[in-house]
Amino acid sequence: MLTGKIAVVTGASRGIGKEIAKTLAAKGATVVVNYNGSAAKAEETVKEIEALGGKAEALQCNVSEYDKAAEMMEYVVKTYGRVDILVNNAGITRDNLLMSEEDFDAVLNTNLKGAFNCIKHISRQMLKQKSGHIVNISSVSGVMGNAGQVNYSASKAGVIGMTKAVAREMASRGITCNAVAPGFIKTDMTDVLSDTIRENINAQIPMRTFGETADVANLVAFLASDEAKYITGQVICVDGGMAI
Ligand code: NAP
Repeated sequence: MLTGKIAVVTGASRGIGKEIAKTLAAKGATVVVNYNGSAAKAEETVKEIEALGGKAEALQCNVSEYDKAAEMMEYVVKTYGRVDILVNNAGITRDNLLMSEEDFDAVLNTNLKGAFNCIKHISRQMLKQKSGHIVNISSVSGVMGNAGQVNYSASKAGVIGMTKAVAREMASRGITCNAVAPGFIKTDMTDVLSDTIRENINAQIPMRTFGETADVANLVAFLASDEAKYITGQVICVDGGMAI
């Protein structure tokens, strides 16, 4: 259970982040539902959590902006007095074969620097508490590489390296940092794929199907709990066997 815990989930207005926010709240955590542009959807996430008796608040912040991420974390610490869980889930894709510099930078800035910004600005509070669980959402693309996703694969491989380094830096203070690497999960991000691409992908997945957001959220909830207090620096794939 996560009763009394304070959690920040980035990119929780939709998709995997929304499911993570709902799962943490269902286990008793108060959840800060971060979003960038989808204010109405973030409010919807909050309402769904509240309807189930949970506690949540929507908070706008573009995590790729260093100073804005600092403001978000300052607000959370001031409002709730502590932060027990940080889930770095916010992410974007800009797929193309060796894409433009603009698309390379945009994806790195959100997926990798965004996670760094949030960890950086919450680390002092977690170190002071001598507790905390950080879960970074990577991807099988970061583990295996994926054609058309040079930017995305680099950002998600970077997340894995950062996870291991942060785990080493913070372990002696009882803080864990792990990465979850989803395969193909049914969300807005994968809804754009054509039927042909979908068939090709399914052929590469031993379980022959895309995963559900709950498949990822259940693992994140475990890693964010004290039941996982001796697990750190790990990368766990939730991918139907794709990266075996
Ligand atoms: P999604 O449905 O497209 O949702 C993305 C979320 O990230 C939205 O809540 C969005 O907020 C938020 N976001 C984007 N840029 C942001 C920024 N700069 N600051 C704050 N929030 C931002 O994506 P998803 O499929 O749920 O993916 C969630 C995470 O899982 C991502 O890191 C993704 O790379 C990873 N992942 C997904 C899959 C998959 O198959 N779906 C596979 C592997 C890994 P707004 O709505 O406000 O824009």
